[in-house]
Amino acid sequence: MTGSGLPAPRDDIAALSGYFSPQADVPVRLNTNESPVPPPEEFVREWCDALRDVPLHRYPDRGAGALRAALADRLGVRAEQVFCGNGSNEVLQALLLAYGGAGRRAAIFEPTYALHSHIAMITGTEVVAGGRRADFSIDPDGAAAFVEAQRPSLIFLCSPNNPTGTVDPPGLVARLRQAAPGALVVVDEAYGEFADRSAIVDVADDIPLVVVRTYSKVWSLAALRLGFCAAPAPVVENLDKVVLPYNLSAATQVAGLLALRHSAEMEQRVAMLRGERDRVVGALRDLGSMTVYDSGANFILVRPDVDAHSLWERLLARGVLIRDFTRRPGLGGTLRITVGTPDENDALLAALSAAIEEVAA
Ligand SMILES: *Cc1c(COP(=O)(O)O)cnc(C)c1O
Repeated sequence: MTGSGLPAPRDDIAALSGYFSPQADVPVRLNTNESPVPPPEEFVREWCDALRDVPLHRYPDRGAGALRAALADRLGVRAEQVFCGNGSNEVLQALLLAYGGAGRRAAIFEPTYALHSHIAMITGTEVVAGGRRADFSIDPDGAAAFVEAQRPSLIFLCSPNNPTGTVDPPGLVARLRQAAPGALVVVDEAYGEFADRSAIVDVADDIPLVVVRTYSKVWSLAALRLGFCAAPAPVVENLDKVVLPYNLSAATQVAGLLALRHSAEMEQRVAMLRGERDRVVGALRDLGSMTVYDSGANFILVRPDVDAHSLWERLLARGVLIRDFTRRPGLGGTLRITVGTPDENDALLAALSAAIEEVAA
């Protein structure tokens, strides 16, 4: 019993704190890595039209067959190698339910996306954390030794890594598979389309590799909650066993399918954001007074020479919200900037140079 007289949850759940990311209503929001632009109007119209024909009194297609087939086509895999969830977070949860759980371990490399360890703990999976180099890259030798010693059931990589932007070197997945032959290697590619390299080309039925992607960032559809993975067909069979039946609503399935017909616009947005990312990285380096880490994503991690939390506060006062990681272990003194529209990025750069002077004064 807890103090309130209510029953206590599992001890490990009681010890958890929930996901937290401050939200504020300011003119320039560059804090959660969303797309700065909404999806094409034409897509929204097509979706609303299609919804009128959905038989709402019937359950949706449980296997999301049409959506999986269309995604498989786009990714160059078979439909049996695709699994969909309500956001990639649900895909990660299904992977942990099927391959993690009590008595099993998941390996991560900190600092990385907080939800990997958070969802692991919720599913009762023990988390073992390896580290990264000072520039946040993963040392292949160190990582191989780590997983060889820890014998995890799952190894989570994140490339480009949130929040550092780091893209893993080619060959890292193969190296880790060799070192931990019993493990499923999961590569979270939520930002994969912004980078020059992807592990998706290596997905095959006889390779223990899963690549997870999402509509939340590149498809400008964070509100939709749709994610997916490419995996060996036998892995997908196990994910289908643990996910709740009819997890994907008809509305989600239709949207996911129709969005794929607008991939030209999506690719334009990705190109615009990659261009803006490179421009902002250049401008930040010209500004000086901070370390700017290389990024393959739609966000940039910086470590200012001045007090980073004060800088974050000054930016907020100027109507620019970015992400404050100054108190996150392994990220001390860093801030993460999501790449926005050209105007938003200009506003950020102007506010930043003024705020740096204020904090330094
Ligand atoms: C944003 C993000 C996701 C997205 O989660 P969804 O549930 O698909 O919205 C997944 N992984 C990483 C690393 C992210 O940054």
